[in-house]
Amino acid sequence: MQSNSLTRKGIKSVSLPYKIDIVSNTTKKIAVFPGSFDPITLGHVDIINRALPLFDTIIIAIGSNATKKHMWTLQYRKTAIEQLFKNNNAIKVATYDGLTATFCKSQGAQFILRGLRNSKDFEYEQTIAQANDKVNGIDSVFIISFLIMRLSILGSLKKLHPQEFQIKIKKRCSK
Ligand code: ADP
Repeated sequence: MQSNSLTRKGIKSVSLPYKIDIVSNTTKKIAVFPGSFDPITLGHVDIINRALPLFDTIIIAIGSNATKKHMWTLQYRKTAIEQLFKNNNAIKVATYDGLTATFCKSQGAQFILRGLRNSKDFEYEQTIAQANDKVNGIDSVFIISFLIMRLSILGSLKKLHPQEFQIKIKKRCSK
């Protein structure tokens, strides 16, 4: 087993039976928040707001999945989210296809941010997070959802969606 020693003020040396990498705190912490965001809801916004103090940059990454039927086009979702966060420089919006971990690497992101709504989410996310860590060295950070929200239904638009989008969503839903 490898040994590692640390020297601190007042403590001569501490021997550890394992090697630890000390991550420099000058490294910019970049997280990718991947999802379909179809459309973005107050639940997503809540996760982003609560994650903001943890990272220097959060990249909201809209995954393009050609096999899935979406309510909003990829470009529409991107523009809508950009509009919503236009006053926050720490938030970037991007679209991507392929593996989320590959996208993270292309952006220099060390973290994947995900929200957990229930134990089903956890079961699903756990395996993916372990694989991303083991294969790609990307850590996952989970934020537990406080808001009990379901996908967009007209009656609860107010609770679900940022005010700016309610009219647009209403129009789209009634088509
Ligand atoms: P995906 O299809 O990849 O789950 P979503 O856009 O549905 O994409 O979700 C992206 C992330 O946001 C996920 O981590 C999900 O758990 C979280 N999320 C989705 N809806 C809500 C919500 N209403 N409240 C909190 N978190 C949510």
